[in-house]
Amino acid sequence: MPTQLETLVKILKLERQQGGRDAAVEGGLSAYCKIWEPKARQQARRPVHQILIDEIVDSLADYGRIESDDDRLDKVGYLLERIMNRRPPPQTYQARLADWEAKMTARPSKPPPAARPNRPDKRRPSSSTSTFIEEHGAWDKDYAAGPEDHRLDVKPLPRLSRPPRATRHQRGPDEERALQEDLARPTTAVKGIGGQLADLLKGMDLHTVRGLLWNFPRDYKDYTELKCIKDLSPNSIETVIATVRRAQVAVGKNRRKDLLIEVEDGSGRLSVRFFGQHFLRPQLRPGKQIVMSGKVAIYRNRLQMANPEWEYLDVENLHTTGIVPIYRMTKGLKPRLFRRVMKALADDWAAKLPDPVPRTVLERCELADLGWAVQQSHFPEGWDHLHHARRRITFDELLMLQLAMLGKRREWQSVAGPALIVEDDFLESFIDEAFPFELTGAQWRVIAEIRRDVAQMIPMNRLIQGDVGSGKTAVAAVAMAMALANGKQAALMAPTSILAEQHYRKLGESFGRMTSEGPPVVALLTGALGTSERESIYRGLADGSIDIAVGTHALIQEGVDFHDLGLAVIDEQQRFGVDQRGHLRGKGHHPHLLAMTATPIPRTLALTVHADLDLSIIDEKPPGRQAVQTKIIEQAARERLYGFVTAQLEQGRQAFFVHPLIEESESIETASAAEAYERLSQVFFRYRVCLLHGQMNPSEKDRVMADFARGDFDVMAATSVAEVGVDVPNASVMVIEGANRFGLAQLHQFRGRVGRGEHPSFCFLIPDSAPDISIERIQAHREGRLPIEGLSIAERRLAAMEASNDGFYLSEVDWKLRGAGDLLGRQQSGHGQLKMTALMTPPLVELAQREARTLYEEDPALQLAEHQLLAESIASLYVDSGDMS
Ligand code: ADP
Ligand code: MG
Repeated sequence: MPTQLETLVKILKLERQQGGRDAAVEGGLSAYCKIWEPKARQQARRPVHQILIDEIVDSLADYGRIESDDDRLDKVGYLLERIMNRRPPPQTYQARLADWEAKMTARPSKPPPAARPNRPDKRRPSSSTSTFIEEHGAWDKDYAAGPEDHRLDVKPLPRLSRPPRATRHQRGPDEERALQEDLARPTTAVKGIGGQLADLLKGMDLHTVRGLLWNFPRDYKDYTELKCIKDLSPNSIETVIATVRRAQVAVGKNRRKDLLIEVEDGSGRLSVRFFGQHFLRPQLRPGKQIVMSGKVAIYRNRLQMANPEWEYLDVENLHTTGIVPIYRMTKGLKPRLFRRVMKALADDWAAKLPDPVPRTVLERCELADLGWAVQQSHFPEGWDHLHHARRRITFDELLMLQLAMLGKRREWQSVAGPALIVEDDFLESFIDEAFPFELTGAQWRVIAEIRRDVAQMIPMNRLIQGDVGSGKTAVAAVAMAMALANGKQAALMAPTSILAEQHYRKLGESFGRMTSEGPPVVALLTGALGTSERESIYRGLADGSIDIAVGTHALIQEGVDFHDLGLAVIDEQQRFGVDQRGHLRGKGHHPHLLAMTATPIPRTLALTVHADLDLSIIDEKPPGRQAVQTKIIEQAARERLYGFVTAQLEQGRQAFFVHPLIEESESIETASAAEAYERLSQVFFRYRVCLLHGQMNPSEKDRVMADFARGDFDVMAATSVAEVGVDVPNASVMVIEGANRFGLAQLHQFRGRVGRGEHPSFCFLIPDSAPDISIERIQAHREGRLPIEGLSIAERRLAAMEASNDGFYLSEVDWKLRGAGDLLGRQQSGHGQLKMTALMTPPLVELAQREARTLYEEDPALQLAEHQLLAESIASLYVDSGDMS
């Protein structure tokens, strides 16, 4: 067990390494110190220890409120020196010694644990000159010599509070052009890359010099965090540098051949086992110096590392930076060689990389020069450097994405579309007749927004974000009625045929109730139709006898021709690629476009990603909807849960059980889904259980979903494919197994499958047993005993689900917890590849937004000479794929 001081030293070092951002412990050092103090006092055996603790506690009490990172770092440095006893205690604290002496003799200290030999007698008379270090033997050796005194002489990382000022070279246009051409050259133009390596790189989609430069590391290894073998602790993941001493192949269970090696680093020896990897033997010969990271375990009373990640020691990098990039790899690519090539390349371009972002923008936003940022993203000199570098690269991605979207919008609106004018009377009577319910205020508002748009000659390009069950379909129906009233056709495309069928049914009902005009003709077009049916629908669409087409991708096939398409609606738009949206649009002559989605992304982010669209938000649910009651439950409560579900089934309700995809492997997915199905069939043997998983073909999936929706089954066991958008109002229970493995958006989407009817509905989240999940902590948080900061990220996600049914709120939470990656992952299909979504924090997104708008207002077509490079970069990133929406 490390002493409390040892633990604190580790935390302080981590804090120092991270640049004094008060991020070394969850909740910050001040909060941590409050928990730490009583435990440390218990271990303190002398008055000098107590005054040291006094000093630490006082120093850290307002740590979080210190203004600058640098001041925090000074404080951390000072405290480390104090703990190492390299500085005497300040006068004020020395004066307290006598007080503590009096207190401590009044309260005899606990005897030392008997199991610790070699310890000086704890009860010898105290002397104020003896130090904490002397008392804590382990300390003495590890830390008293100084934290920097590592065997490998790893220097502390340099700090950098702001990026270096961008220097811009004055280059003539010819020179600039030559550099651009160099960037576009094939990778073989890079020193050290021959045909063979270039082929490997092609396999990783790296074709040009530019591609290589933008191929950022997927991770970094911190060589400053190295451990000596003697300091390794079991059950943690550690990194060591060591020399192979012995290697042998051992035959394990089932005649599996393992490679067993022993390594040494001067402080001790460690055995390492590579299960089933005897073939590594020629590479791990005695004498080889390697770096390994892996989990340390105890095996037969000795420390052992199993299947570590390893590579040969890269001395060059170790001594230059301390932070080593880890790149995506492919079979045959040698990490060290590739790193060396990348190092030379990044260094080469650092000073000359053309920078498309105007210098005024960089200065205003305190952003680094591009060449510097690219170089530092590959080979950072310190964590601060990396932070500034990534901030710059991320800024560029956001800026260009938004400018590209604004450009698309401009293009889209430059042509004339059909103006659709409707009278109040028509609209009101349609709405009266079409729906058996009153529209919500939010639905009315969005309808008004659409009506204003379509009345213009400029084609509408609008996205409706509305939570699951908020009634987007009704709004779409009204928009379609607007097209019909103007003698135009309308089309609605959905991602699955079951959803298309559902829309077909609902729209048929709505329009069927139209008494004033006589009902329009609605047709369903999916891949399941026979040739003659299909042909007849094609004819109807072409001659205008069909007014509304509802369908799947079948709608955008060759051969589908509309007589006069006025409005195209796309449901669950995030599931469609950009091309597909463009194709639907292309079926008409600049029709209006209405896209709908139930996976909201935070407004700030949406304003960048969907800068080409106008945004409508349905933030109100139909009256009478009850929030789905959500509860996190532990594994042990499963039996009780089954009882609860049975009671619901008895009342005629239906239930979903969703299981996570354990591995991205088809056979495993099928197997685990089948297993879950077996288990649930046994538990609910009186009921009808069905199975839905990702490896079923689309028509099978549709069939199962449709059967379930019709009530032919009571319980559905599903993997994460549980279809979006399907309405099963009778289902009242959603159980999500392995809930900690899903993103918030996904959890919320699953939950949206229930609570769609009049029945009270329930969602149960069953997390796996994982180190970062504790039902007790969640319980403490629920009862107000533990602030949110006391929860792990995974726990916070689950707690947010319990606390809120609001998809917008949850998407904001998700953004704060995990960065924009998950949120954008699905939204991004078809747009340029975003690489640094993790850094897309609200302030940076807003900053890039502001700059993009300023640039756009000043020069919408980016025609000015100083925007030339920017325009080209955008064009090459967002390769025109027809139409983007
Ligand atoms: P989503 O926004 O998820 O696509 P739907 O359009 O499928 O939601 O609507 C969900 C359910 O709510 C449907 O059964 C629909 O008929 C019903 N609904 C829609 N609007 C209202 C309303 N204003 N009042 C009552 N029920 C409504
Ligand atoms: Mg819907």
